[in-house]
Amino acid sequence: MKIFEMSALELSRLLQKKEISAVEVTQNFVERTAAVEPQVQAYITRTPEAALAAARAVDEKRERGEPLSPLAGIPLAVKDNICTGGLRTTCGSRFLEEYIPPVDAAVVKKARDAGMPLLGKTNLDEFGMGSSTENSAFFPTHNPWDLQRVPGGSSGGSAAAVAAGMAPLALGTDTGGSVRQPAAFCGLVGLRPTYGRISRAGLVPLASSMDQAGPLAFTAADCALLLGLLAGEDRDDPTSSAEPVDDYPATLPEGVKGLRVGLLTENVPQDFDREIIAAVQRAAAVLAENGAVVEDAALPRIRSSLEVYHLLCAAESSSSLGRFDGLRYGCSEPGENVNEMYSRARGEGFGPEVKRRLLLGTSILRENRYEPFYRQALRVRALIRRDFEEALARFDLLLGAVAPTTAYPLGEKKDDPVAMYHADICILPGPLAGVPALSLPCGLSAAGLPIGVQLTAAPFQEAILFRAAHLLEQEQGPAPLRPPAL
Ligand code: GLN
Repeated sequence: MKIFEMSALELSRLLQKKEISAVEVTQNFVERTAAVEPQVQAYITRTPEAALAAARAVDEKRERGEPLSPLAGIPLAVKDNICTGGLRTTCGSRFLEEYIPPVDAAVVKKARDAGMPLLGKTNLDEFGMGSSTENSAFFPTHNPWDLQRVPGGSSGGSAAAVAAGMAPLALGTDTGGSVRQPAAFCGLVGLRPTYGRISRAGLVPLASSMDQAGPLAFTAADCALLLGLLAGEDRDDPTSSAEPVDDYPATLPEGVKGLRVGLLTENVPQDFDREIIAAVQRAAAVLAENGAVVEDAALPRIRSSLEVYHLLCAAESSSSLGRFDGLRYGCSEPGENVNEMYSRARGEGFGPEVKRRLLLGTSILRENRYEPFYRQALRVRALIRRDFEEALARFDLLLGAVAPTTAYPLGEKKDDPVAMYHADICILPGPLAGVPALSLPCGLSAAGLPIGVQLTAAPFQEAILFRAAHLLEQEQGPAPLRPPAL
């Protein structure tokens, strides 16, 4: 097996036994990237030299016998809306094309401190607004399973980088599904942690009440390893939680015996691809065969998630993106007056999807719309949260679909935002409730594309998600799914 085909856990073991060096590992991913990146276009910025220097530092420390993190020497790709000190962070937007943050996001700092070489910054839908990575201001990313298809989004660059063997691990962000859906489209495991489990300091906000960073990897064990490193309280993020962090990798082999699993039949409407419904049912059967108790579950009010999410996301982003005014970020010719300057900067700097959402958000925060739209959405959000609380008191895990289809052709939904929004129906409820959710691959469609299924658990129960995902992985066969196209 080639280095770039190994899981982070396998690489970690070889590094710790000194059977390979960190420089060899990083060099291998850099070479692989040089070979396949022209077709995939996962990265906005690549940093091979800095990654090799970081790898060299790890090798030197190991030689000196210094204690090292299990992730030391494991390269990482980072979505380009997560700040990297001294390294351009564009958010996939013209507005921030030249923006260099002064400091690392908390998650990036932890990764660097652990000795993870940073391979580069990955492509995304502008400010995370989208589900296909086609809303990037720069270029679309291609799905490594079929280069004519989308990798999903908005963390499509991170997913494509891992799927194509250009990085063993990547970080994405998930406000309304942006880790889980690209993971499903690219045959990966992707986790959206509980709101508050990982520091959000240094993530460029989309909707602050839902934003979370999360790992993408080939296996549940790899995601568990990375979450273990990143989780924990951070004084720079007052919403981060002091809840103790479980030893996720250690609990993986515990299996699912006795776990109560709720099958979200309502969450798998009949207009979903038959193959996706079948994959969810297959996963339910495997969990039952391994000792879980599977019953039907219902979240009756999640049907309103689409409207609630888009109202709240638009309102929050119109407020958080207010800082992009052409003065502090992005430059524009000064106009006659301040309004002209704003309008010129935003007119040139933002793409059509961002403009659409900012107009919606600004409009519903106006005095006469605040109550019937924004406040009403908050009330329905509270009901959705209650649905989850009730279901997760009865069940340890909820099982459902991630998306109605597998990866679709580039261009198919690009000019139809409503169709794009609708396809997010299964991944929006979790963020509204703040619960952790994981997407994992469960087989391939007849067309040879990965199918993802989704597991959801109660707040801070990521360990249960990993245990179930690990068991499903084991039952499906030894090798992780690898795209044959590249
Ligand atoms: N696809 C969703 C949207 O367009 C989710 C985005 C995200 O999680 N960043 O808003």
